[in-house]
Amino acid sequence: MQADLICVGNELLTGLIENTNAGYLSRRLWAAGISVREACVVADDEKAIREALERALENNDLAIITGGLGPTEDDLTREAVASILELSLVLDRQWLERMKEFFRARGIVMPENNRKQAMVIEGSITLENRRGTAPGAIIKREDKIIVILPGPPHELQAMFDEQVMPFLTENNSSRLMAVRTLKCIGIGESMLEEKIRDLGRWDFPPISYVSRGYEVDLQIKGSGEGENAPAAIAEAERRLRAELGEYIYGCDDDTLPGLVGEMLAKAGMSLSLAESCSGGLLSDLVTDVPGSSKYFKGGLVAYSADLKNEFLGVSREILAEEGEVSAATARAMAEGAKDRFHTDYAIGITGVAGPESDGSGRPVGLVFIAVAGPGGLKTRELNFGGGRRAVKERSAQIALDMLRRELLELP
Ligand code: ATP
Ligand code: MG
Repeated sequence: MQADLICVGNELLTGLIENTNAGYLSRRLWAAGISVREACVVADDEKAIREALERALENNDLAIITGGLGPTEDDLTREAVASILELSLVLDRQWLERMKEFFRARGIVMPENNRKQAMVIEGSITLENRRGTAPGAIIKREDKIIVILPGPPHELQAMFDEQVMPFLTENNSSRLMAVRTLKCIGIGESMLEEKIRDLGRWDFPPISYVSRGYEVDLQIKGSGEGENAPAAIAEAERRLRAELGEYIYGCDDDTLPGLVGEMLAKAGMSLSLAESCSGGLLSDLVTDVPGSSKYFKGGLVAYSADLKNEFLGVSREILAEEGEVSAATARAMAEGAKDRFHTDYAIGITGVAGPESDGSGRPVGLVFIAVAGPGGLKTRELNFGGGRRAVKERSAQIALDMLRRELLELP
């Protein structure tokens, strides 16, 4: 099965909103063996939507349209789809009642223009929206499938995963494509490529590299007949894992903070953080993971020397003689946090985020990271390029990787 994605919305064209729906749907579709031929963005304009849909139906068996299902006059998706398929819009009384209830529960009388959202395309399957008022729809037309989804990502995602995916799986007879993403850290893109090249010539599915700071995603894309695509991918994954070993930390939807968190939870270990130049970013990433309260006790953003001394116990001597940006300070921060916050592991990060040097002559991008744990204390000195944000992000990534290595007892 092959799909086109059509994302509707002026706000996507002006750049006010980033088109995250296309990325989400692409990842989900590829993972289910459905390839995506084209993803386009069109204006809130009936003609533009119609043209995109016509093109999609000419080339594929599946078209997914997102957005433009709202109650306002500029929401025209339903109208455009109905007009292409020469179908009419009919009132769905059940949906109307459900919407009135939705508003009643919030103590509001339903605005009259919301009635528009109960107008559905005749013969379509209505998709429940438990997070909003716009219903989605699936329309089957001969051998083609058209799916309409609301624009707000949290509405679209629930609807797609719970209702559309099962429908597509059931209606997809050809499974020709698949992707698998291996997530790597601690090895640069070019080193990776070299290592993979060393595997020699083989009948490999195509691999693409996507680097995100210090992480590199290796995406293996398999095409083949029937069950062959998954088999080719599995073989490629086996060989890559054998070559890359612990540089691969996870796959597909795994994240570094999620995996490290899982390891901490499994080991019954706790974590605290003492951050300077990363400004709390590491705490943010750690707490993005549901259930992080099981192992994360807390952290301190200690930007000034006084706070490092008073709250983390970094001695005045170290601060004066070694400097705030030094291996000794990072170590004392980690040990101070581990001690004072009573955790099994603690991380200390200090560095020069830039764009100017800190006055001590230390270069922008110089960062020291220390991890204190049951196995002792590890420190790394790093030199990052890029702006402030890049320095913060890379510091957080390397810190998580250092902790991962500690937990796995790797050097
Ligand atoms: P409703 O108007 O009822 O919220 P809708 O289906 O009409 O639903 P839109 O009006 O198109 O949705 O979009 C509503 C909001 O959802 C947008 O303002 C934007 O914040 C978000 N959104 C829409 N499309 C996308 C997209 N492709 N990627 C990310 N966010 C999107
Ligand atoms: Mg819109």
